[in-house]
Amino acid sequence: MAHCVVPEAEAVLDREFPVLDKGFVRLVDYMGTDERVVQSARVSYGDGTKSVRQDAALIDYLLRNSHTSPFEQVILTFHVKLPIFVARQWIRHRTARLNEISGRYSVMKDDFYIPAPEDLALQSADNKQGRRCEALDPALAEKIRAGFDEGQKNAYSVYSSLVDDGLARELARINLPLSLYTEWYWQIDLHNLFHFLDLRLDDHAQKEIRLYAQALFGIAKKVAPLCCESFQRHILGGVRFSGEELAELRNRLDKNDAAANTGSGLEGKALERFEEKIKSGRQL
Ligand SMILES: Cc1cc2nc3c(=O)[nH]c(=O)nc-3n(C[C@H](O)[C@H](O)[C@H](O)COP(=O)(O)OP(=O)(O)OC[C@H]3O[C@@H](n4cnc5c(N)ncnc54)[C@H](O)[C@@H]3O)c2cc1C
Repeated sequence: MAHCVVPEAEAVLDREFPVLDKGFVRLVDYMGTDERVVQSARVSYGDGTKSVRQDAALIDYLLRNSHTSPFEQVILTFHVKLPIFVARQWIRHRTARLNEISGRYSVMKDDFYIPAPEDLALQSADNKQGRRCEALDPALAEKIRAGFDEGQKNAYSVYSSLVDDGLARELARINLPLSLYTEWYWQIDLHNLFHFLDLRLDDHAQKEIRLYAQALFGIAKKVAPLCCESFQRHILGGVRFSGEELAELRNRLDKNDAAANTGSGLEGKALERFEEKIKSGRQL
């Protein structure tokens, strides 16, 4: 079978999934599905298609054992509209191919991101790269939003006048803020999309890019549901231990086994450190 088509993916082709106040993610095209992953994995020993259960087991095996190349056989192309500060984080993922709207060629649209009131929060005290969980007082949030709006309107008005006065667009744009929306076509294979999602669905990633990652993952699930389920179980839902932690864990479990035999098993507190780590695993 050469060309893989999935009805669920066909149904979302060209549909804009809204993200943030004015952004979106849209699946432009896809090549390959779960089927392509198993076909390409089996090519080495000329084995044909098996049952869905066997395919799922093979995908699980490949994913858990970092046999990544079959996942690179699935390609997704997205059209994304996103604020420039999100684009700056996104562009760090070098394994995709992209083409962005040119602010030298086109006049930039008057589209800026303003966070919803509930997304405005103070600087986190314990995470230098993040915000607090508690939202701001609504009156203060509205004042900040009005300030963003005013600054964006001023910046765009100066930009428009400069363009109207004939200044080159590549220069007129340089005072536009990071909240301005840009657009690009972004093409990536499934293996590298999983790497992107692993990093950007994480709680440590900024909320705005996390929302885009969630939209991408939702679409990827339509294209390759078994692969996405396996990724969710083994990578997103997994926890990694260092060699030191693993040795400690083994040691404590051995002691626990020995103590259990004498009826004096360890208190739950003894495994607190590991429980903490397990609890810190991502909840999706
Ligand atoms: C929560 C968070 C906070 C971050 N904070 C910062 C920050 O403060 N400052 C900052 O600068 N960045 C920051 N980053 C970006 C981060 O350091 C990575 O650049 C980004 O996540 C892309 O990861 P990557 O290189 O693994 O991905 P990709 O570019 O997709 O690469 C995937 C893998 O391919 C290999 N690879 C790809 N291209 C090359 C290459 N040219 N040379 C060698 N190997 C290559 C690497 O093994 C890499 O892991 C942050 C990222 C996250 C998720």
